[in-house]
Formats: sequence, structure tokens, C-alpha cells
Amino acid sequence: MKARGFAALKPSGTFQLFDFQRRSVGPNDVLIEIDYAGICHSDIHQIRQEWGPARFPMVPGHEIVGHVIEIGEKVRKFNKGDRAGVGVYINSCMKCTPCLSGMSQYCDEGMIETYNSIDRDGSFTYGGYSNNYVIDEMFAVKIPENLDFKAVAPLLCAGITLYSPLKHWKIGKDSKVAVLGLGGLGHMGVKIAAALGAEVTVFSHSEDKRSDALSMGARHFFNYGEVKNKKRNFDLILNTVSANLDLTDLIHSLKVEGSLVSIGIPPEPYQIHPGLLIGGRKSVSGSMIGSVEELQEMLNFCSNNMIVSEIELIEPNYIDQAYARTIASDVRYRFVIDIKSWREEWSESAL
Ligand code: NAP
Ligand code: ZN
Ligand code: ZN
Repeated sequence: MKARGFAALKPSGTFQLFDFQRRSVGPNDVLIEIDYAGICHSDIHQIRQEWGPARFPMVPGHEIVGHVIEIGEKVRKFNKGDRAGVGVYINSCMKCTPCLSGMSQYCDEGMIETYNSIDRDGSFTYGGYSNNYVIDEMFAVKIPENLDFKAVAPLLCAGITLYSPLKHWKIGKDSKVAVLGLGGLGHMGVKIAAALGAEVTVFSHSEDKRSDALSMGARHFFNYGEVKNKKRNFDLILNTVSANLDLTDLIHSLKVEGSLVSIGIPPEPYQIHPGLLIGGRKSVSGSMIGSVEELQEMLNFCSNNMIVSEIELIEPNYIDQAYARTIASDVRYRFVIDIKSWREEWSESAL
């Protein structure tokens, strides 16, 4: 199956038009014509090989929404014309304990990522900065009709990555939650935690995000430096910062048995003295996206609470600038690529 998208040809490269092949639609597959794709900071980390060697040309994009235009003969969940979404992974073994207990993102054999991965059939995966995607229906989700389509795209990674730990740690109206970093992930965390009833505090290094944070549902907004004045304050801290931080004051700001959840993935490791954790049975934990089942649950939750992302819609020729601005924390709060307009323009010019 022919596909066309935007690829970086090498780590330092800028984005270029790129033609490639996807597998043809199998019995359990759906073919999705992509309308919108979000830009996640993980796309940037991978293009820059900040997490290790990557494969090029790379077509990133794992916040994908579009419409189903073809279905395999065994497909039951989708019909042609349905709104569908693709998140961070598109396959797993479906035999191991995590897979069989609704946590296929933690598959013992490793999840297959939407791009920059080798699929179980040996094909290379290319992501959503492109016109289409072929995926087993089991790993695709339905997008609620009442939400603004382009602003839903970031929920497929940013939304689920914050929803999953909030649910796992049973956050509700008696909880005090801190969100570190008001970026693509962080702003979804604020909205979802507030909708769950928690008292939300944002720690940010961007004072000009204060009023946005409060309007998204945060009760308090502080500069990072203020963390040291918040001893034994939070049940849960969600660290979405993409750069390295000193965690000492953050751990002090946890209540007894509180948890600091690592969500951001800086290139360098953190340093933590065990004494910080021992005095209060505290934990530093991690959380990676969420399962496909949770992804659907989160979309339904957002539909019921009218939650979408704050976005800046861009054309594909702006991806390079969008990357530079994301790195500079200059995005309110997620760039979304308008694939639909580009795709329609391109198919008209081909006539
Ligand atoms: P983003 O939109 O760039 O947001 C990151 C935020 O961190 C920025 O807006 C900024 O917030 C803060 N920040 C950035 N640089 C900083 C610095 N040098 N010092 C202090 N604060 C800084 O990124 P994102 O897309 O939300 O992703 C955040 C991180 O999560 C990335 O590392 C990404 O790879 C990772 N991620 C993890 C998962 C997972 O499953 N665990 C899933 C997706 C992404 P303020 O301006 O408010 O300070
Ligand atoms: Zn992501
Ligand atoms: Zn598995």
C-alpha cells in the first residue's frame, strides 16, 4: 500500500516529503485516512537519538486521528467512515501476563511502537505525519463524536499518559496532585486531575503560563523554586519535564507514602539518595502511556467531561519550527499537524 508522509532522513535532518509502503489491509486490519497528528516531545527525542540509535528515514507521529476508509473481512469494531485513533503502540504479543491482564503497553516482549519499530510481521513502522495508517483493529480506538477532532489528537499520547497514573494511584476529590511542567502532557494532566476532583498544583518555569494553568483547573501555580516550601504536601507528583531536574525538594514535598511518578524521559539519569525515600516510605515510580483498553476509557471520560487539548494547528511545512518552539517551551500547548488539508490539496493537484 502506497503512503506519503514527512520524514527526517537523518538525526540532524529537517523534514522532507517521503514516499513509502505500508502493508496491505489484512483480515483484522483497518485502513485509516489520517486527518490530524500531534507532535509529542518523544518524536523530538527519537529524531535526535536522545534515547539511543534510531532508524532513518523516520516518519514520527503517535497522536493520530482520522477516518476508517477500508476494513478487513474479520473486522468487527469499525465500519467505513468511523472516526478512529492510533496511539503510541500498534502491536504486542497478546500472550504474556501483562498483555493478558490489560497492560499490553508493558508486554514482556516489548510493545511495537507506531513508528521507529519493527512490527511482528517484520515490516518497519512509520507514524502519523502521513496520509494513512494500517493497523489491527484491536489496537485502534474509537473517537467520540462530540469532541473537536483536531484537538482530540493529543489525547492519544499526552492524554492517556497522564490519565493512566491518575487512575492507577486512585486520584479523586481528597487527593493533592502536583504536575511538573505545563507542556503537552502536563496540561492534559491538569485537566484530567481536576475533572477527577483533585486539588491540582502546577510547578512551572514559565510564569506566563499561570493564568492558563488556573483556567485549566489548577488551584495553585508556582515556580519550581517554590517546591522547597511545600514539605509533605502531595499524594502524587507527575513529573512531565523533558529535561533533568534535582528531585530532592520534590521528594520532600511528598506526603508519607506519596509517589513521584517519572513521566518525562530526559536523556540523563536522575540521582536520588535512598534516605529521601526511607523517611516516609516514599516511592519514585514510572508510568508509560496506558493500555489500549485504558485509551478507550480515557477518550470516553474526556467525552463525558468535554476535555480536549489546547492546540496550535500547523501545516506540515512548519514541523521544523514547531520542533524548535517545543524545545523552547514555546507552545500553547500542543502542535497538531493539519494532515487533512495537505492530503486534500495534494490529491486535488494530482487530478
Ligand atoms: P513538552 O510539551 O515539551 O513539555 C515539557 C514541559 O517541561 C515544558 O513545557 C516545560 O514546562 C518543562 N520543561 C522543558 N524544559 C525544561 C527545563 N529545561 N527545565 C525545566 N522545565 C522544563 O513535552 P511533552 O510532549 O509534554 O513531553 C514531556 C516528556 O514526557 C518528554 O520527555 C516526553 O518524551 C515524555 N513522554 C513520556 C511518555 C510516557 O509514556 N511516560 C509519553 C509521552 C511523552 P514549563 O514551561 O511549565 O516549565
Ligand atoms: Zn507521545
Ligand atoms: Zn505481551
